[in-house]
Amino acid sequence: MTDATTISKNIAAIRQRIWAAEKESGRQAGSVKLMAVSKTRSAAEIAAVLTEGVNDIGENYLQEALNKQQELAGEAICWHFIGPIQSNKTRQIAEQFDWVHSVDRLKIARRLSEQRPTDLAPLNICLQVNISNEESKSGFAVEAVLADASSIAALPNIRLRGLMAIPAATKDPAAQRASFAAVRTLLAQLKQQLPECPWDTLSMGMSGDMEAAIAEGATIVRIGSDIFGPRQ
Ligand SMILES: *Cc1c(COP(=O)(O)O)cnc(C)c1O
Repeated sequence: MTDATTISKNIAAIRQRIWAAEKESGRQAGSVKLMAVSKTRSAAEIAAVLTEGVNDIGENYLQEALNKQQELAGEAICWHFIGPIQSNKTRQIAEQFDWVHSVDRLKIARRLSEQRPTDLAPLNICLQVNISNEESKSGFAVEAVLADASSIAALPNIRLRGLMAIPAATKDPAAQRASFAAVRTLLAQLKQQLPECPWDTLSMGMSGDMEAAIAEGATIVRIGSDIFGPRQ
């Protein structure tokens, strides 16, 4: 358990880094949103994040997330699902989240749209792209995104907002930027192909590659360990 004082200091440092990266790349201050990724962390640790004014919370595992959502009921939180999705979990995801960043196949998008309660706003989704073409990683291949995006855009109860990527881990900033640049280029292609979608979201950048992602146009960064400390 990381105490609230440490979390507060860590968030201040992350905000400073975001601000510096925005400035460095000539982007407007405040154009990059901070999501706190709270997998394995407690509801009390999430509460400490909320106190700092961070209300975008990302979770990877459904059951773990549902438990914390119960504990934090009544708090103003925008819940993001960012983990792998099994098709038998889509109903609860469609019911309990505001955003899903990890949509990695057409079938999942269809189910989320079908199962999104119609008294809620459409579910915001990003398509996860396997930008480094790693066998081990989920996500659409680049060609598959271009092929399936129009079917997904036509679904009634979701809003296709953009792309999410987790590039192959590397400490080399140039290699990090090259991967994120490829995601940015793909988003530009999709904007041309389907101008009716908002395409306003590039969900990319984690603790170790946030600056490179911001330089390439990230609109939301997903930060876990640099807020809560290393995962045990
Ligand atoms: C765990 C996780 C993060 C946060 O990673 P850190 O390196 O701890 O900042 C971001 N995105 C996804 C999809 C994750 O699973």
